[in-house]
Amino acid sequence: MRGIILVCYDVETASVSTDGFLAGARRMHRDLGVPATIFFTGKTIEARTAACVEAAGETLFTFGQHTYNHVLFKSVYMQPADGKPCHGKLNFLREGGTFEQLQEEVNRTQELYLKTFGRPCRGLTTPWGYYRGLADRPDLLRVLHHAGIRWVRSYARDHRDCQPTPYEVQPFFYADHGLPDLLEIPVQGYQDDFYWERFDDRQHGGSYNEYLLWALGYVAERGLVFCLNSHDHGTSTAGEFDRTKGAWLRPTLEHGLKLGLRFMGCEDFYHEREAMGKEAERSGVA
Ligand SMILES: [Zn+2]
Repeated sequence: MRGIILVCYDVETASVSTDGFLAGARRMHRDLGVPATIFFTGKTIEARTAACVEAAGETLFTFGQHTYNHVLFKSVYMQPADGKPCHGKLNFLREGGTFEQLQEEVNRTQELYLKTFGRPCRGLTTPWGYYRGLADRPDLLRVLHHAGIRWVRSYARDHRDCQPTPYEVQPFFYADHGLPDLLEIPVQGYQDDFYWERFDDRQHGGSYNEYLLWALGYVAERGLVFCLNSHDHGTSTAGEFDRTKGAWLRPTLEHGLKLGLRFMGCEDFYHEREAMGKEAERSGVA
């Protein structure tokens, strides 16, 4: 099977970096003719409405939400155990929100999304991402499902709550949780350049771009799904996007095209996986 690449962006700063990121990413994706999926926080939709609505008109883009205020679904306790500090500490704890808080975060953004874009939101990326995703939080999975979410990106850490997330962690439906139509789309590798900077052992090159070229080869050879991620950080203009995130994104996407990877948006990917599941059921494979 051909490898698949899902290019995803968390657009969350609710600042001028949102505008620059959306303009720069749109130009790059149009140049290359490849799709991407963008996850907005509610705060960003409110603070940068014009830029978000303009981006929503781009047919190469699919959209999801990233909570209202970037509250974590689970606590993250990073224990890198490599002797290097993590956010200034040996180990680092960031606490997750309460059940009620998360319900509010999800539902409020669903309403805002519908009001702003005129269509319901079906995808969500959890802030920070977690080891095992939300597999150990069926209560929160039910909140998402009830709100209409059908594809979620929540598995984005290794057993130390750090990264890289192994490429062998592949998309799965939460069928064991009684939610067979809710798809997990894990984020493998590093969730952005700054995570590579902190955690990578440089075995695959001295730059994030070199690492990504290796990763694409790994994914292509094994026919895996790779969810590549970035953020609207430090991208106040399209030009700044080109000089920062675009500087490694563009050659990575070009390389993916050269390798013959399939680029997909998350909604299309969801429908393909759903159809594959039904086909497997019919033929008794599952
Ligand atoms: Zn985020």
